[in-house]
Amino acid sequence: MKLTNYIHLIKYPFVIPIAPDKKIERFVNIFAIIAEKIHLIDTGVADSFSIIEKYLMEQGRNIKEVDSILLTHSHPDHIGSARQIQKVSGCTVFAHSAEKKWIENTELQFSQRPVPGFFKLVGGSVQVDYEITNNKIIELEQGLNLKCIYTPGHSAGSVCFYSEKDKILFSGDAILLPGEIPIFENLDDYTNSLEKIRNLKPKLILSAWDEPRQVNEIDLLLKKSENYILNIQNVSKMIAEDFEDTNSMEFYKAIIQKLGLPEILVNQLLLKSFQACL
Ligand SMILES: [Zn+2]
Repeated sequence: MKLTNYIHLIKYPFVIPIAPDKKIERFVNIFAIIAEKIHLIDTGVADSFSIIEKYLMEQGRNIKEVDSILLTHSHPDHIGSARQIQKVSGCTVFAHSAEKKWIENTELQFSQRPVPGFFKLVGGSVQVDYEITNNKIIELEQGLNLKCIYTPGHSAGSVCFYSEKDKILFSGDAILLPGEIPIFENLDDYTNSLEKIRNLKPKLILSAWDEPRQVNEIDLLLKKSENYILNIQNVSKMIAEDFEDTNSMEFYKAIIQKLGLPEILVNQLLLKSFQACL
């Protein structure tokens, strides 16, 4: 779907197989900047390759024209098809240094963060050609720049990409909304990153999980995200008082129940989030 004269949204639905009989239905947004060359903000999961290829063909373009991949962070639903796309296009891959290890070594990522169905979601490791830092301007092509905004919290090296000219922010997973799977590593970083986004005063926010958000929705969106995360902190702290072992599955089951989230989310992955609240 064409969003602006050069930004396209490719939405890809997929499932996370939590257990043989349990799965979570999700979708992820991949953004393609189609100009003289093609640039991708994140790459979805491994199977997204054919959807991206098909979409570009419908636009009269070819996946081999992809010149750069900008990764907001290293999680499977963002780096999934990067390896395959890099292979066919020879494109340059950008990511923050704190995410590099997990992008370049997906076996290591899985050993340290065993997302269910990981190897179905990720098509393999890919080399990061450029490590980006806060405020770094990435010159995609003439007249087309994106600024890296370092927004840790969801993960240590999460970044957003910002078009200062058009006030459009590609926010990756930096803005968690109520009811979404609460994945974050550091609560203070997370809320500081929200503040950083607020101060940019973007006119359009393009998130990996959410619908595109226009200027009039953004203040409320950021407020909701902050409240959600603070509520998770309050609930985690309150429940921790009743638990001796905050490493136990029972501990996060109690939190999930209190938050009213689906029980299917009782999973090791969320442990880090809840422990980050204590
Ligand atoms: Zn993520």
